[in-house]
Amino acid sequence: MNSASATALTVSNIQKSFGQTHVLKGISLEAHKGDVISILGASGSGKSTFLRCINLLETPDEGSISLDGETIEMKRHRDGRLVAGNARQVERMRSRLGMVFQSFNLWSHMTVLQNVIEGPLRVLKRSRAECVEEAEQLLHKVGLYDRRDYYPAHLSGGQQQRVAIARALAMNPQVMLFDEPTSALDPELVGEVLRVMRSLAEEGRTMLVVTHEMGFARHVSNRVVFMQHGVIDAQGTPGELFEGLPTEGFRKFVGGHQQRNGE
Ligand code: ADP
Ligand code: MG
Repeated sequence: MNSASATALTVSNIQKSFGQTHVLKGISLEAHKGDVISILGASGSGKSTFLRCINLLETPDEGSISLDGETIEMKRHRDGRLVAGNARQVERMRSRLGMVFQSFNLWSHMTVLQNVIEGPLRVLKRSRAECVEEAEQLLHKVGLYDRRDYYPAHLSGGQQQRVAIARALAMNPQVMLFDEPTSALDPELVGEVLRVMRSLAEEGRTMLVVTHEMGFARHVSNRVVFMQHGVIDAQGTPGELFEGLPTEGFRKFVGGHQQRNGE
């Protein structure tokens, strides 16, 4: 097996309920290194819950997660639910999963540069000089080097999201998780964020991207997963899904998007 096809992330049979609501009904997914997987689905289908289970912001009720061959230890609580068995392992694994949210979540009292160096400085305990040097390179990459001393409130949404991407990259994550990174942006700012994400894909970064951007799903990702009612209803290459339209659920989903976008 060559390194290009090595497994980065394996998720097996994830189940999650909130009270009586069974949100994830057994989701399995394997991401190879360099895969860019778009996760599509209607609102409420469980996409965010799925990403949050992967980095244990939510604890799955069932299932297992392995990152780069290391499986997250889970214990069964007396009531039968799973709990993470090893807090230090969870912290370590989480630091290897870069997460980018719809709402940017930058620290508002810190400048752009401070936002980007905070993780490597405090969590990875690297030297300030090294963190600053790398942060400046990352800010060049996302086109915001000249804004390094700005506070988030003085940036546009697209700029804030690019800072959030640089901040996630600063931890040198093995897998990047994006949850609708462009959904909160004004339409004219979506393109600048998608361009940065495309450049990460072209660098061979492993990415799971929950998105409603059909252009990204079709032309940037190499795999597409369509979730419906807490299960994977269809998955395959963009061609297999968008040309093949394999399930009724996916046909309706794509039809709804085309109508909304006037295509
Ligand atoms: P999506 O991201 O696909 O829109 P979500 O994962 O956010 O879907 O939500 C899936 C379902 O789980 C929804 O019905 C939502 O109301 C429910 N849900 C998500 N998080 C919670 C929570 N913390 N408590 C209760 N219900 C939740
Ligand atoms: Mg969501």
